[in-house]
Amino acid sequence: MTSWNLAGLRTKQALSRYSTYEIGGEARFVGTPRSQDQLRELLELAYRRGISPIFFGGGSNMLFPDRPDPDTLFLTTREMVDYKLEGDRLYVSAGLPMSMLAVIGYGLGIVDFDFTFLLPGTVGGGIYMNAKYFDRHISDTLINVHYIDLQQPSGVQTLSREACGFGYKQSVFQDNSSNWLIVGAEFKLSSTNRKAVSLLAIPELVALQEGKLPPNRLPEFASHFIGWMEAKEGERAEDSDLIPMRKIVQDRVGKMHFAYPSCGSVFKNDYSVGEPIGKLADRLQLRGVQRGNARISPVHGNVIQNLGGANAADVIELITHVQDAFDRHYGFVPEPEVVIIEGRASSLQR
Ligand SMILES: Cc1cc2nc3c(=O)[nH]c(=O)nc-3n(C[C@H](O)[C@H](O)[C@H](O)COP(=O)(O)OP(=O)(O)OC[C@H]3O[C@@H](n4cnc5c(N)ncnc54)[C@H](O)[C@@H]3O)c2cc1C
Repeated sequence: MTSWNLAGLRTKQALSRYSTYEIGGEARFVGTPRSQDQLRELLELAYRRGISPIFFGGGSNMLFPDRPDPDTLFLTTREMVDYKLEGDRLYVSAGLPMSMLAVIGYGLGIVDFDFTFLLPGTVGGGIYMNAKYFDRHISDTLINVHYIDLQQPSGVQTLSREACGFGYKQSVFQDNSSNWLIVGAEFKLSSTNRKAVSLLAIPELVALQEGKLPPNRLPEFASHFIGWMEAKEGERAEDSDLIPMRKIVQDRVGKMHFAYPSCGSVFKNDYSVGEPIGKLADRLQLRGVQRGNARISPVHGNVIQNLGGANAADVIELITHVQDAFDRHYGFVPEPEVVIIEGRASSLQR
């Protein structure tokens, strides 16, 4: 009989611990590999036991079920943290927190990644979603993406940026979400003003590789990175390299991004409509609408907050409420950006 005693495998885990929504019931299996070897062993074990994997990273865009399917391995790449700098190419593994890219950029004296500061989630999840901040996207400076195809799990495959089908909140990985697991990516660094420092001179990166991950809960995540920025400001007053990050702090804290557990924007914008979902929701006076312990943010009509103890069913009720209102008033149904994982209960099916 196959043993379930494997490095990187945890049993009976509350998925709420792995999600910035802080929602999700107890999963029978959660895989947290730290290396590609551990990842392969977990996938092989799951395959042998007929358990299907569901991939995730930082869980900042996931709505986990209240009653997870016991025949699922919830597999996160968030503990796979590795990096390498070769010339003007930066390799990072899927688990590197996106905000760490901004820290690396600062260490190297380049502006390539400042927009990822305080962007929750990992590089793997960011590539899957083509994460963005205003008009800058994680895909902008990407060279290629390395992934494992579960149909051919023996080797790592590589896809060039051009083959990744990036668009607004789009990538080819969304078309292959049950089979393609991103393990790493390479970025091209700009050379202007680049400091000749080794990545090992960036202590925050070394700590990360030693397993000291930034906190997942939004308030602690924000304090962690804001604390880093303020420490740098303390070391070098008037450091102009920190100005973009200071602006991001003002913007995101001002919009209460970290005040309650959430997944950020719930719906993708539909640019053919001409206005963002939040603005359209405001016209229907949807801010503040509450179901159970979930509420549409009083400051942003496209954010659903967990007021404490909300469950997936509460959030789904609100999602349906917004979709119905949009359908009635505007004649279209907004597409969720948040990835909704179905559980055992039929109440989770829309
Ligand atoms: C407060 C807040 C603010 C936010 N602001 C923004 C914003 O400004 N811009 C923006 O774009 N997003 C924003 N988001 C959403 C979120 O940060 C991004 O979507 C992010 O890219 C998700 O990364 P993740 O690692 O948490 O992915 P997860 O939420 O864990 O997963 C999301 C999807 O990616 C897939 N995935 C994750 N890792 C892998 C992998 N290694 N291989 C294959 N598939 C994978 C999962 O299967 C899932 O379908 C915000 C979220 C929060 C909570």
